[in-house]
Amino acid sequence: MSALATSHGSLALPAFLPDATRGVVRTVDASELRAVGIDALCVNTWHLSKEPGARAVEKLGGIHRFMGWDGPVLSDSGGFQILSLLQSGALDGSASNKGIRWRAKGGESELLTPEKCIRWQAKLGADLLVCLDHCTRPEEDALSQRASVEHTVRWAEECKATRDRVAEESGVRRPLLAVLQGGDDPALRRECAARLFELGFDGYAFGGWPVREDGALVESVALVAELVRAAAPAAPLWGLGIGKPENLVAATALGFSLFDCVLPTRDGRHGRLYVRRGPRSATLLPGEARWWDHVYLGDTKHAVDDAPIEPGCPCPTCARHSLGYLHHLWQVKEPLVARLATLHNLSFYGRLLRELQQERAAASSPALSGSASAAATGERPAAS
Ligand SMILES: [Zn+2]
Repeated sequence: MSALATSHGSLALPAFLPDATRGVVRTVDASELRAVGIDALCVNTWHLSKEPGARAVEKLGGIHRFMGWDGPVLSDSGGFQILSLLQSGALDGSASNKGIRWRAKGGESELLTPEKCIRWQAKLGADLLVCLDHCTRPEEDALSQRASVEHTVRWAEECKATRDRVAEESGVRRPLLAVLQGGDDPALRRECAARLFELGFDGYAFGGWPVREDGALVESVALVAELVRAAAPAAPLWGLGIGKPENLVAATALGFSLFDCVLPTRDGRHGRLYVRRGPRSATLLPGEARWWDHVYLGDTKHAVDDAPIEPGCPCPTCARHSLGYLHHLWQVKEPLVARLATLHNLSFYGRLLRELQQERAAASSPALSGSASAAATGERPAAS
């Protein structure tokens, strides 16, 4: 699948969706995103439901008008964020068949049900909705992983029923993605997948922790891709939290087509910039020359560096500014530097995704399939 039709235009796949968690890609105006190759955004339903509230966004014209963004928007449920706060002890509460209950210190108990989650997403007016799911950490025991799958499937069923009711009420049927859980247990992953496929969704997502301690993708990422390709080959597959450049390349080869991650924007704000160093490979093998690298804005070696962050980068930052100037802004803690760095990092991701889109389109075209498409893109054979 090389494009996804949405109510805000056709989205070329694979696509990287920067996190606009609270309705903004931090430090950047939505009008600047297209110029750095960003086609779609990911917002967080739970965060927006708290501030300013889904109803307020609806009254302000919906999420697109609210953000000043006319491209596709995916609304993540926010379940992951609440569960993370429960695990860290920042909130009290737990997950059950009904949903996720939590209470802030000294606050009142609140319950996020699957129905509420979908109604909020519909009020926001996102183009792609996501089921509430119960994310676990890989080290949690078998009982927790089992409970996570039971909750995830039950909530997904209720989410789908709510999406269908909202479609009847409003006349707008929004595509709904279900998230596959099951931790590192292949049998549990298969069971979760089979039960969600039986319910039937417009797209699917890998849920859980996608990356091992050494930075490579966990085996269940490949398993989920294999299961979805077999059961729903035309459905978009979202790799929740997969974001390092080499992992985007590897996951795209597996069949993933949607990605969101805080890495390029958060790293930009922390003065970590992404630059290309040479021909791209699918993985980073020990001893292999790295095809991308970080440049650190705080590094004093950039103090009198007149070159841009990455020679040849078409982003507005590289077009106008030297590393020496950006280093100066960093040293004097000028807020502008966060925006300039974010724009460059998003451009790095935007260019990488364009390459992957062209390769996928070429591979799906009979005239350019096989070795011809690899030669056309100049890509090295992927290490297997
Ligand atoms: Zn740049």
